[in-house]
Amino acid sequence: MRREDLKQEYDIVIVGGGMVGATLACALATRAVTKTLSVLIVDSQPPAGQSAKTGEAATTHESFDSRSTALSASSRLILERFGLWSQLGAGACPINKIHVSDQGRFGATKLDRADFGVPALGYVVENAVFGAALNATLEQLTHCAVLAPARVTSASPSTNGMTIELTGDDVGLSSQPSRVEAKLLVVAEGGRSPLCEQLGIVRSSEDYGQHALIANVGLSQPHEGVAFERFTNTGPLAMLPLLPVAGEQRASLVWTLDADESEQIAALDDATLLARLQDKFGGRLGRLQRIGARAIYPLSLRVAREQIRPGLVLLGNVAHTLHPVAGQGMNLSLRDIDALVATLDDASHEEGALGSMSTLRRYLAAREADQSLMISVTDGLTKLFSSDAQAKVWLRKAGLLSIDLIPALKKTFGARAMGFE
Ligand SMILES: Cc1cc2nc3c(=O)[nH]c(=O)nc-3n(C[C@H](O)[C@H](O)[C@H](O)COP(=O)(O)OP(=O)(O)OC[C@H]3O[C@@H](n4cnc5c(N)ncnc54)[C@H](O)[C@@H]3O)c2cc1C
Repeated sequence: MRREDLKQEYDIVIVGGGMVGATLACALATRAVTKTLSVLIVDSQPPAGQSAKTGEAATTHESFDSRSTALSASSRLILERFGLWSQLGAGACPINKIHVSDQGRFGATKLDRADFGVPALGYVVENAVFGAALNATLEQLTHCAVLAPARVTSASPSTNGMTIELTGDDVGLSSQPSRVEAKLLVVAEGGRSPLCEQLGIVRSSEDYGQHALIANVGLSQPHEGVAFERFTNTGPLAMLPLLPVAGEQRASLVWTLDADESEQIAALDDATLLARLQDKFGGRLGRLQRIGARAIYPLSLRVAREQIRPGLVLLGNVAHTLHPVAGQGMNLSLRDIDALVATLDDASHEEGALGSMSTLRRYLAAREADQSLMISVTDGLTKLFSSDAQAKVWLRKAGLLSIDLIPALKKTFGARAMGFE
């Protein structure tokens, strides 16, 4: 879409067309009332490639990059409701088993889908595949326009919601910012949020001093749908099963490293890096034989002190950026999106309800407990499993063993891993 087609007023403007912003737009289109609302997505990057079938395909969009996302079984149900699973399912690798262990120490937890009577404990979807599915769905939506690449430079309260200023040479916006009005502004800008700073929304921030190195790894033997999470002295190392490409078995690596050594490790030649990785991970997936493009993500916990204001709501990483230790960031945001869309749909018969504080408070009240729990669980796990202090080593050894040995604990742990509790 170009400037000529830009309207002056929208019901909802979404800043950020990444994983969360684009999913929200698709979800809005599935409810009786919200599907009639006019929606504008503004994203600072060009749309994700249509042709991406796997994460190996080139995509320059930073949200739909070579990462993969582990989705819980309950997230699948949400994505089905959003009409997205029909496209995503074919590119999603089912997780049959989860294996959690502590490097060099006895004690492991094994979850098996058969013990829970479910088709899969979860799924792994490459972000590029996610982006292509979102993009294809957005193109079909009649009430939703995408302006990209364009940037929202400021937002301020107005009588009916928020006034937003936009720039974007490539979509024909002049150097003078264009203005649009929104009854509700959804900020889904990702971890860095200049808009929050401009609006004076404080976000607490704790740097974990760790970086995640991610890459796709070619395996010498089938992974059989097993997701491995191995805790090492620098932090967790995950190998998540991916669908094969051209007959090659693959896993998605998320390797937590000390911030000061990550650049140097990422710069190693393939053979040395694979040997280092094999040493850390062990032989459970056979020989690790190929490593793809690498990327590094600094890890921190960031939580917004306010998520709603009149005419404004924060979603996704802007609201809560979590450590990827338990793969919960997107899963949590899917539950937020589900609740927000349901609340907006229910409230839409009330005059001026879209951006009203009573509507937005109802949304937040429905989400606060889950958000707080996930924030404290991922933060607690990160700190427990990134330490060599003897007390913590014993605690996690006892934890992993007892989860594996006590059926009731295993059921609770499994239900949580699948997102059902
Ligand atoms: C290594 C790693 C592994 C992960 N693994 C998992 C996992 O397995 N499971 C899981 O559930 N979660 C996982 N996560 C978390 C998940 O990736 C995030 O929750 C998710 O990407 C958040 O999406 P977002 O849309 O909020 O932000 P982003 O993906 O950062 O998207 C923000 C978008 O906003 C745009 N933007 C920013 N500012 C502006 C502006 N002013 N104007 C216009 N556009 C703007 C950007 O261009 C971008 O497109 C992982 C995270 C990391 C780092």
